[in-house]
Amino acid sequence: MKIGSLMKMLNDWDNYNERQRFYKSKDWQQLRTYIIYRDPLCKQCEKEGILKSSVDIDHIEDIIDKPHLRLEPSNLQGLCKECHSQKTYESIKDRIKQGRINNILKPVTKWKN
Ligand SMILES: [Zn+2]
Repeated sequence: MKIGSLMKMLNDWDNYNERQRFYKSKDWQQLRTYIIYRDPLCKQCEKEGILKSSVDIDHIEDIIDKPHLRLEPSNLQGLCKECHSQKTYESIKDRIKQGRINNILKPVTKWKN
């Protein structure tokens, strides 16, 4: 499967998934504001000595693998758009390589804590 079509499938799937509801939740919106405040600069760019504003919040341990860490500040980092897209892309590529795409494609109806 091509990355592009998998990404499209994930987006479609997101629309009726628990994940979508999560990103709209008040808990997440509040935590998101806090993490942007805590990590004003992209963590990845910072490692390379580049100063760039963080605009996305990344789950260091993927939300698909570790949903119980979805609201854990130590599992979150601020990233710029480019670094976040790159990380997502790499993680999907790894999943395909390891044959672990089933757990992405399985709709989550309710997350356990
Ligand atoms: Zn960056």
